Amino acid sequence: TEKTMEKIVALCKGRGFVYPGSEIYGGLANSWDYGPLGVELKNNVKRAWWKKFVQENPYNVGLDAAILMNPQVWVASGHVSTFNDPLIDCKACKMRHRADKLIEDWLQEQGRTDVNVEAMTQEEMVAFIRENSIPCPGCGKSDFTDIRKFNLMFKTHQGVTEDTSTEVYLRPETAQGIFVNFQNIQRTTRKKLPFGVCQVGKSFRNEITPGNFIFRIREFEQMELEFFCQPGTDLEWFAYWRKYCHDWLTSLNIKDENLRLRDHEPEELAFYSKATTDFEFMFPFGWGELWGVADRTDYDLKQHQEHSGKDMTYFDQEKNEHYIPYVIEPSLGADRVTLAFLVEAYDEEVVDAEKNDVRTVMRFHPALAPFKCAVLPLSKKLGPAAQEVYAELSKYFMVDYDEAGSIGKRYRRQDEIGTPLCITVDFQTVGDDKTPADHCVTVRDRDTMEQVRLPIDQLKAYIEEKIAF
Ligand code: ATP
Repeated sequence: TEKTMEKIVALCKGRGFVYPGSEIYGGLANSWDYGPLGVELKNNVKRAWWKKFVQENPYNVGLDAAILMNPQVWVASGHVSTFNDPLIDCKACKMRHRADKLIEDWLQEQGRTDVNVEAMTQEEMVAFIRENSIPCPGCGKSDFTDIRKFNLMFKTHQGVTEDTSTEVYLRPETAQGIFVNFQNIQRTTRKKLPFGVCQVGKSFRNEITPGNFIFRIREFEQMELEFFCQPGTDLEWFAYWRKYCHDWLTSLNIKDENLRLRDHEPEELAFYSKATTDFEFMFPFGWGELWGVADRTDYDLKQHQEHSGKDMTYFDQEKNEHYIPYVIEPSLGADRVTLAFLVEAYDEEVVDAEKNDVRTVMRFHPALAPFKCAVLPLSKKLGPAAQEVYAELSKYFMVDYDEAGSIGKRYRRQDEIGTPLCITVDFQTVGDDKTPADHCVTVRDRDTMEQVRLPIDQLKAYIEEKIAF
């Protein structure tokens, strides 16, 4: 019982988590649509992030900035000049690669951390690949073209007629919406340092090598925090957020054995960064970055001060001085982490080895599960009573209702979509001429398959306790 991407993709498509985009037209490369279960799962992921990072965190507030921004933003952020992927083609098999990735993967294989690829020029990358005869992962030969640059930002036009319209970009990250609103937020909330701003929203990158299902897509969602603090306190806050992010993942059932917190070596750091940790998750296709946590110093606000001509300093009343805050940025992909939760949850459990009985269970944390419970009448005759239970519970939770097939089959269907509780309405619940109704139902637990009998009026509290996060 091995977890493979094929199995997970098939389950996602078959049960309505994720469909290929524009499927009836032959699809659109690497676009995916979240189905009825997927939208619940992903919304729950975003809600769980917002709960811990905004609602329960004393320092942070939220923001929802526009996707289209003044093009000068992307000049200041560096995306116009440096958000370029250096591409090279293998002359032998024609496979296209990102030169920096090719080198990075090779260095990692060699166990080397002494080379800063980010600091290399295009020429240096080509020279390095040739000197070390780095092989093409496709065919093993080492014969590449020169590098061509490609900007990852999607461009579009804003304005009515062609000659009056301006070129604008779809944002490649949500972070800049936070930086440009730094003064607005500080002024209106009257927050003192340290404080943070959280945002969830779509970002767009014309990725050269999208793939691995929803791991790398061109239209994706990010959940980003920019945490502003006093220079000198930044490394402490970096450690605080590094742990906070780690705890968020493990409290939602991500196992430590499937996580790797990779701290960048000094040589590997971006020139403006004092510390960076990549959170990596063990996907079926290998370790992949989930969350980037970086101490970005005062780089971003400084850039915006320079390019906009507006003051980006903070007035520290205690110290009676103006300065540009330092920033810690934990940046997480909503789709990527949703994939991690799908992978982590997937399980094939042998229920009875002799009968070759195996059940597929999505062991989601109950807070993330698309449905919190399913109401199942034991017989169709019990439909009206079961529907009453459904109507009451669905005021508070996403509840499924299923009366088709044997109860055993219905349990298995709920296991496969990760519903933590199944509530069965039976003849005792409603009673008959001889036996009075007991107004109780049987509640089956997804993971243990154990059943308890509970009064209907205790269900809400029972479910609430179960899904608490
Ligand atoms: P990668 O090296 O995988 O391209 P990156 O280092 O460019 O990622 P960042 O710019 O740090 O990524 O973005 C922060 C987070 O946003 C990533 O850790 C990831 O979770 C998510 N993300 C980035 N690009 C994509 C994408 N194309 N599809 C899905 N999620 C993405």
